[in-house]
Amino acid sequence: MKKIVQDYTKDELADMIKPSFRAKQIYNWVYHKRVESFLDMENIPKSLRSELEEEFTLIPLKMVSKQVSSDGSIKYLFQMYDMHTVEAVLLLMRDTQYHEDGAIKHHKRYTVCISSQVGCKVGCSFCLTAKGGFIRDLSAGEIVSQVLEIYKDNNIPSNHRVNLVYMGMGEPLDNLESVAKAVKIFSDLDGMSISPNRQTISTSGLSSKIKKLGELDLGINLAISLHAVDDELREQLMPINKAYNIASIIDAVKNFPVNQRKKVLFEYLVIKDVNDDISSAKKLVKLLNGIKAKVNLIYFNPYPRTNFKRPDPKDMRKFQEYLLSKGVLCTIRESKGLDISAACGQLREQNLEE
Ligand code: SAH
Ligand code: SF4
Repeated sequence: MKKIVQDYTKDELADMIKPSFRAKQIYNWVYHKRVESFLDMENIPKSLRSELEEEFTLIPLKMVSKQVSSDGSIKYLFQMYDMHTVEAVLLLMRDTQYHEDGAIKHHKRYTVCISSQVGCKVGCSFCLTAKGGFIRDLSAGEIVSQVLEIYKDNNIPSNHRVNLVYMGMGEPLDNLESVAKAVKIFSDLDGMSISPNRQTISTSGLSSKIKKLGELDLGINLAISLHAVDDELREQLMPINKAYNIASIIDAVKNFPVNQRKKVLFEYLVIKDVNDDISSAKKLVKLLNGIKAKVNLIYFNPYPRTNFKRPDPKDMRKFQEYLLSKGVLCTIRESKGLDISAACGQLREQNLEE
């Protein structure tokens, strides 16, 4: 089987391909000019081009489906060499900026949500990805290529500011080695130049791995999927809480190296009549005391055969207002791409059922 060129950092390629300056040239062809064959890499000698074409693939993912939402977000399903599929979503946020001369400028801001595993071992009761169990880890190149293919499909220039969130399918910290490598490959200045401080890793709270991630000191942002403020409820929603309880997560977060100007994001999936009450909001404020935190409330996105329900917008706002009144930064996640079922695992599920 061919090796995936996006699996390698520039330094690794330089060790594999001599002379080593070829690595920089290859990065440029792959990530800037975005060629799909080594044979097109004009500044590389023809004999080497053919050798590389034999040894490596440049397209480890095949786009098998694409759904455009009314808000412009696009959900992709990619297939890998072994026919397994993963999702990635391009989220479009329109930024309106007012200039001094009074002109209004619209500016496209992109966030790409990427997957790190096929399936997931964590088994959260509200999550569709969990239903199919765990299949396998993605390699760094399979993670990187999701973004590369989305750049290609939308002609996004390589210097465009893009944010990456590891919030697709899978638990990124359960595949830490490939994820950490992907963070580095993304940030290479000869590659996509997506700085680690524009990348956010979201985790269900594997405390020991949060510690490891901190030790790697990659400069990335951390997001914690908290969803509940007491261990009993959290265990019901997220069985992983039996191994890593809330206190252990808070402790790991307190020791995590956070960029001076940044905060740790706490995601709180709001489910109607489960965790949408003000006493939960009160406990949340206490829990976050002493942490530079920001809370993101997420509407539970229903799917067939789940008993969980989407919360009332009224209750969402009350929850948010309570946090704000206590000085805790809190946003409500816009339901981007709701009509294309943009919560993780939902497009893949549709395809499997067809
Ligand atoms: N495994 C990691 C990252 C992927 S999940 C984690 O759990 O953090 C990304 C986010 O999607 C998580 O916060 C998860 O709770 C949320 N999510 C899962 N199912 C959802 C649903 N049906 N509706 C809305 N958000 C959901
Ligand atoms: Fe895995 Fe995250 Fe889904 Fe939980 S919410 S099952 S950790 S992908």
